[in-house]
Amino acid sequence: MISSTTFYLLVYVWIAIAILIFPLVLKIVAPYGRHTTTSWGPLINNKAGWIIMEFPALFFFAVFFLFGKNHHNLLPWIFFSFWMIHYLNRTLIFPFRLRTKGKKMPVTIVIMAFCFNLMNGYINGYYLGSLSEQYALSWLYDPRFIAGFLMFCSGLAINWQSDNILIHLREMGETGYKIPYGGFFRYISCPNHFSEIIEWSGFALMTWSLPGLAFAIWTLVNLMPRALHHHKWYQATFPDYPADRKALIPFIL
Ligand code: NDP
Repeated sequence: MISSTTFYLLVYVWIAIAILIFPLVLKIVAPYGRHTTTSWGPLINNKAGWIIMEFPALFFFAVFFLFGKNHHNLLPWIFFSFWMIHYLNRTLIFPFRLRTKGKKMPVTIVIMAFCFNLMNGYINGYYLGSLSEQYALSWLYDPRFIAGFLMFCSGLAINWQSDNILIHLREMGETGYKIPYGGFFRYISCPNHFSEIIEWSGFALMTWSLPGLAFAIWTLVNLMPRALHHHKWYQATFPDYPADRKALIPFIL
């Protein structure tokens, strides 16, 4: 089994990679969904792509947690439940709800996202299942736990609401794009991305852990550029796009 020193070194390297590639990700438009292109190589069915790329976050997180030794402690089980609620939806429910008939995404994106989810599932599952021994029951009253819990729950609620609004913009069989309204779309173009960032920042705060922080940073690095690219695309595509709507952060960005 990997030593804790090696494990933390690995997580620091993982964080450093995220920070280093951020300027690149800001420039390169991730080619899936509305930005799909054939110039990234062969394509795969969109729903299948989602299931394959999200699966490691569900599976490896659960395996590394469940084969750990922290099962006498309640707190890691609470964190485990939050992670599983999010990823059971994202891996096994969300892809089947998508109205993306006939749409495809590049295999390269699926492979990259698979590796990304494998790493994040591993570091968080292994940490919570085996390395974290600091969580006494009194952690439930710690301001970091309470604030993180509130952020995670509100992030999850906004994420599900926003995903739902987007999915229902299309009738069954439709593939085009419309301007979304309602919920946090009143303020920003991408509340699904905004809320996902809030969610995993909350998880990092409530676990007060390096792997949690690594995942929050990676989520920001992935989703801030995607929201900026979506916002630009909306403005270029719809002449009547609401002028006061920001991209990612209400009233700010
Ligand atoms: P998008 O907003 O690009 O798309 C979500 C779904 O809604 C797609 O099926 C899309 O169709 C459809 N859709 C979006 N906008 C419109 C519109 N204006 N009109 C009609 N249909 C629309 O979200 P992502 O694919 O980027 O992400 C999906 C979820 O996964 C989000 O909740 C996101 O936060 C999460 N995610 C998390 C990551 C992380 O690092 N933790 C990384 C990536 C995603 P189509 O596919 O045809 O465009």
